[in-house]
Amino acid sequence: MNRMLIGGQWVDARDGETIPVVNPSDGQVFDQLPRGRAHEVDLAVKAARAAREGAWGKMNATERGRILQKLAQKVLDNHAELANLEAKDTGKPMTTAKNDITVLARYFEYYGSAADKVHGEVIPFLDGYTVTLLREPLGVTGHIIPWNYPAQMMGRTLAPALAMGNAAVLKPAEDTSLSALRFGELALEAGLPPGALNIVTGLGHEAGAALAEHGDINFVTFTGSNEVGTLVQQAAAKNAVKCVLELGGKSPQIVFADADLDRALPIIVRAIVQNAGQTCTAGSRLLLQRSIYDSFIARVAEAFAKTRVGTPEMDLDCGPLMNPAQLERVNGYVNRAKQDGLPVLAEGTIAAGTPSGGYYVKPTLFGPVPRTNRLACEEVFGPVLAAFPFEDEADAIALANSTPYGLLAAVWTENGGRQQRVAKAVSAGQVFVNGYGAGGGVELPFGGTKRSGHGREKGFIALEEMSQTKTVVQYHG
Ligand code: NAD
Repeated sequence: MNRMLIGGQWVDARDGETIPVVNPSDGQVFDQLPRGRAHEVDLAVKAARAAREGAWGKMNATERGRILQKLAQKVLDNHAELANLEAKDTGKPMTTAKNDITVLARYFEYYGSAADKVHGEVIPFLDGYTVTLLREPLGVTGHIIPWNYPAQMMGRTLAPALAMGNAAVLKPAEDTSLSALRFGELALEAGLPPGALNIVTGLGHEAGAALAEHGDINFVTFTGSNEVGTLVQQAAAKNAVKCVLELGGKSPQIVFADADLDRALPIIVRAIVQNAGQTCTAGSRLLLQRSIYDSFIARVAEAFAKTRVGTPEMDLDCGPLMNPAQLERVNGYVNRAKQDGLPVLAEGTIAAGTPSGGYYVKPTLFGPVPRTNRLACEEVFGPVLAAFPFEDEADAIALANSTPYGLLAAVWTENGGRQQRVAKAVSAGQVFVNGYGAGGGVELPFGGTKRSGHGREKGFIALEEMSQTKTVVQYHG
């Protein structure tokens, strides 16, 4: 039976209630999680506050960094176990799950080694003064993460927060909390003081909402849907608390006629099929210059038709979707597109032998998609790729920027001037030139523009997001 981590103790929900844990590969319940609510969130925030004011807050940065690096090593030492847990909980192929655990460790290596390299500044001011800009932790940080990359998201958000000396309360997604709980054990083994990291499992509208609106947190970071992101931001606003939002995307792959198409082809297919399309940065729109549209889309279709879906153990191109709601959502988009008469250019296959109760869908390629269709601007969050022809650079940029989102974009061209112009013109937090996806990319600042959210994670910039300055103005004559 799983328990939550609060103040260094493993606890049940006060009322003993639990949430079933379902394996998306076969739809079977295989475990239970405590159903934490406002009461448990409150205990976790109090424990975090005590840690901030106690051993954790007083620890010097070098020692903090050492503990985080030790934790990275613990993750690597337990890599196989964590990857198996993650694969079973999410249904993703073993290779992807293993990579996710490697990236989790990498976050703690990166930020652990950065902990004592972030420092303040001295600002030139009037004669007789010395002005010091201190960089300080925010205090108690709340972290609400989704189910698509549980281990990676946990690393992305917790490692910089802890590196800066904040004490954290994590609310993992109710579908995928197992790797977080195992990680919590490793954190204690690595020497993280009680209360520095607290993990409250539970439902979004209960534990998640209670964390977002708690009056004694100093920061909240949320990754997930736009609807819930709005609620989290409203809750944070009521307490005048800083908030980082990582929301959805409808990211374009813009392919010009002069591109290295052989290099682009597998990357384009993988960018949407990977993780069954349940990636905020999925390359879900394929924009092809008209002169190569017919020839290249035929190659994409051929590659798409070869994609295969199966269980983690089969380790194919992708696994099932996360849950029945996701299955209904993705099937809804696909069926509606078919009813709208959009041409289906290719479908992948669900491998023989996949259990009947799992949430599997075939990767599907539609094209050409009218620019006014839902598939042109709404996030499906499934392995569905929409293709569009474009005329020239100006048309490509207009089409790329025609959705409410702005998370990632890729430009494929051998023309150096065009690479720069398009990269600057597209609305996105990250732009790839002749490539796509960071594969972890712990070092690379990441985040959204427009409805994809605000604030930045990853890279050194996350350390700034998770801290604040204090200006000390000293007159000494
Ligand atoms: P969600 O936004 O409902 O859940 C994300 C997290 O928020 C979970 O931990 C959940 O428990 C919590 N949550 C839910 N309701 C809450 C509330 N009222 N207050 C505080 N926390 C709450 O996301 P979902 O239902 O799991 O996925 C739905 C859609 O979200 C997807 O189809 C996709 O569009 C988007 N999504 C985006 C990302 C991303 O990385 N950008 C990741 C996952 C999902």
